[in-house]
Amino acid sequence: MSISCSTVKVTDKNGDLNFLNKEATQWRDIPKKEIKYASRKDTIVLVGGLTILQDKLIQSALQSIGENFIALPNPNFESFQKGKAFGNRGQCNPTYFTVGNLVKYLQNLRNEKGLSSEEIVQKYIYVTAGGCGPCRFGMYITEYKKALRDAGFDGFRISSFEHDKGIFQKTEEEALINFSPKFFITLVKAIIIGDVMNILAYKMRPYEVKVGSVDSAMEACRLLVSEAFSKKKNLTKALWDCRKILEKVELNRLQPKAKVMVMGEFWAAMTEGDGNYNLHRFLEAEGAECIPQPVMSRLMLSIWEAEYDLNKKEQLTTDTSKKIDFSNVKSRVLIKLAKHAVKLHFTMYAKAIGLHDYEIPDMDKLAALSKDYYTLDCEGGEGHLEVAHLIESVKHNLAHLVISVKPFGCMPSSAVSDGVQSLVTNRFPSANFLSIETSGEGAANFYSRVQMALFKAKQSAKEEFEALEIPEDIPDKVHNYLYQPKGEKAGSAAQLLSSIQHRGL
Ligand code: SF4
Repeated sequence: MSISCSTVKVTDKNGDLNFLNKEATQWRDIPKKEIKYASRKDTIVLVGGLTILQDKLIQSALQSIGENFIALPNPNFESFQKGKAFGNRGQCNPTYFTVGNLVKYLQNLRNEKGLSSEEIVQKYIYVTAGGCGPCRFGMYITEYKKALRDAGFDGFRISSFEHDKGIFQKTEEEALINFSPKFFITLVKAIIIGDVMNILAYKMRPYEVKVGSVDSAMEACRLLVSEAFSKKKNLTKALWDCRKILEKVELNRLQPKAKVMVMGEFWAAMTEGDGNYNLHRFLEAEGAECIPQPVMSRLMLSIWEAEYDLNKKEQLTTDTSKKIDFSNVKSRVLIKLAKHAVKLHFTMYAKAIGLHDYEIPDMDKLAALSKDYYTLDCEGGEGHLEVAHLIESVKHNLAHLVISVKPFGCMPSSAVSDGVQSLVTNRFPSANFLSIETSGEGAANFYSRVQMALFKAKQSAKEEFEALEIPEDIPDKVHNYLYQPKGEKAGSAAQLLSSIQHRGL
């Protein structure tokens, strides 16, 4: 399809001037040469960009339904440099990391595996999440294509499924990748299981007696779950088997550690590598326990936004006749189903592996907390969620420190949320809040700012713990990860101590 217009006239002070007298056509990002792409069965689909565990699980899950998927390695500093070298100026940090990571992978295929650029372009395709929005997310595909063209992969195919359209996708590569309900259900299962395992790993690792034992146990669990996907075994049963592995990990949980909520822009807060200077591991090495942001949270926000938009649409209806708009009814049913499915699967998998105390983010509650500070109509990035997380953390004493990670150049997170957070910290002076930017460079400055905020958090964790009496007999159960009492204390060790005192374990 092309859009055309006739002669464009521009008037200047001398009268009419035919400035442009040729037909204008729609610009399209098409390769210079015609390319004969490989058939579906010979095409390899590349994915990536979530946590390390989730990318691996997604690969196993999608391969199990017959799709030829390969997960890219975690983006690192070299990816960032390639993104900067081949990308446009002025992009946000996740763009550089993710675009550069794909360029790096393809260059390795060419330079180390001996594939020609033509072969790579014909055989490979990259699938990413896409979407419309006020931030750069809506332009990712164009950015990928530009960088790949300049890196010598003109015509490399990029396909996206829009994160806000769920299972109803229409793409040009539809015939090549089967974006069917089965595809999305399998994908979401892998993401949710990855979330459950990640949350548990972050709860256990700071307290391991033998360094590396939690990571080894989690790797064994990943293999079990991957096998369950590949052999189409029961996933809940696989997670139940993971319990037996995790229970063998020796923990010393009565150590007062600062609890740090890591939130902010979705990718920057979630990635586990150079994209946020390995923030989670750095915090753990400095004596903290992290509360990570699960990918499910972003999923729930997308569902919440769809419902919010639908409510607004219905309010706009001026037609007073009693006709039912069936498209709205269908959307509402689908939204309810999606919410229910995510919650159901999370609860089921969490119970099986032994994650008992985790509450699925309640999007309505978070919206209610933040609406006086950040308009709910403003979507893009994490919308009102960053503000909501900080308020929730202070009101419910969830953490000793809240770190909001924002990529350099991020519009919604740096420019909008941060402006609002100063009002929030003003109204909630007890908040220990650090907003910090990741630029891909300047790690020393980043770490030193985190250390300064962490010092105060560690003090709070210690004081909270020392205010409680340590009983002479500590029941063994306290060190078992399956024992997860809830309490009003922020620190895990303080929660355990107070549960001994109150429940007389
Ligand atoms: S939210 Fe910020 S960092 Fe993320 S894609 Fe949008 S502009 Fe980039």
